[in-house]
Amino acid sequence: MAFKPARVIFEQDALKYPLGEKLYRFFRDKGTDVSFAASHNRVSAIPGRTRSEKYFEAKRTLVVGVRRTTAFETCKPSAHFQLPLATSCPGKCEYCYLLTNLGKKPYVRIYVNIEEILSAARGYIEDRKPQVTVFEGAATSDPVPVEPYTGALARAVEFFGGQEYGRFRFVTKFTEVDTLLDVPHNGHTRFRFSINTPEVIRRFEHATPPLAERLAAAWKVAAAGYPLGFLVAPIILYDGWRDSYRDLFKTAAAGLNGKVYDLTFEFITHRFTKRAKGTILEVFPSTRLDLDEEARAFKFGQFGYGKYVYPKELFSDAKIYFEGLAGEYFPGSKVEYFV
Ligand code: SF4
Repeated sequence: MAFKPARVIFEQDALKYPLGEKLYRFFRDKGTDVSFAASHNRVSAIPGRTRSEKYFEAKRTLVVGVRRTTAFETCKPSAHFQLPLATSCPGKCEYCYLLTNLGKKPYVRIYVNIEEILSAARGYIEDRKPQVTVFEGAATSDPVPVEPYTGALARAVEFFGGQEYGRFRFVTKFTEVDTLLDVPHNGHTRFRFSINTPEVIRRFEHATPPLAERLAAAWKVAAAGYPLGFLVAPIILYDGWRDSYRDLFKTAAAGLNGKVYDLTFEFITHRFTKRAKGTILEVFPSTRLDLDEEARAFKFGQFGYGKYVYPKELFSDAKIYFEGLAGEYFPGSKVEYFV
């Protein structure tokens, strides 16, 4: 499922970097629609009349830019800082938090100044040592679909392989992992896959690979010696959720063959804000996501806006159930969090 953009927009300055220049020649020679913008933050040449049309066109648009801010955002609960290697992704998951976060700019962005970004990461590591600093490479994107164009993940994995006090992690739903298998990771990168029940994937995770392909990629990564992780998110507590998620664990464990020594789980239950609900309904007017505020509990968030989460009792049931599944099907695995 390689990402083939319908159009590629270059920030002028990106051509000053070897990767930007290389990509410009590559897309021009392929006959892809190539144009320029003054900044990767202000791209207006994407067609579409409605919000929904604009969204789908943006997801077919690759913007090649220079990441100027090298101040990194924090990234709880999975890491200390975000490592911004890309923004957005060609997937079209209905619940994606980027739908709200990126607002009118959901186009796929890559950055050509990878060495500058990694050099900034080195600064953060130096500041905190001897504490180990962990960076999340998928906070604002799924970085795997654009990897064939950038090589940024491979470079980051190699960089962190050489860092005594730095660790890297990223999560993906995509499966183009072959170029990462031989990178000297030194066990410093945790390679995580986002998985869900086939029903959730089919209904809500458009333009992403099916479960079987994600699991096959996960086993390749584990065989290459990477610490492995599974992110189960969003956990959707629909009718029959217990059996469906048990099947998911059963399927995953069946492919394991006892080969994984270092495995973590992260669990995130489905939640939404009022603003996210509005955006989802605009982009996916016939969504079947459960966005009924009445059936949820309201929880005040960090920045003054609240979110709708599963009621306390259901949440606690689910927590016990999922932690039980992890222990039953993957003894020795570690649950990092359940939120
Ligand atoms: Fe969002 Fe991840 Fe889906 Fe991409 S794959 S749309 S980043 S949830």
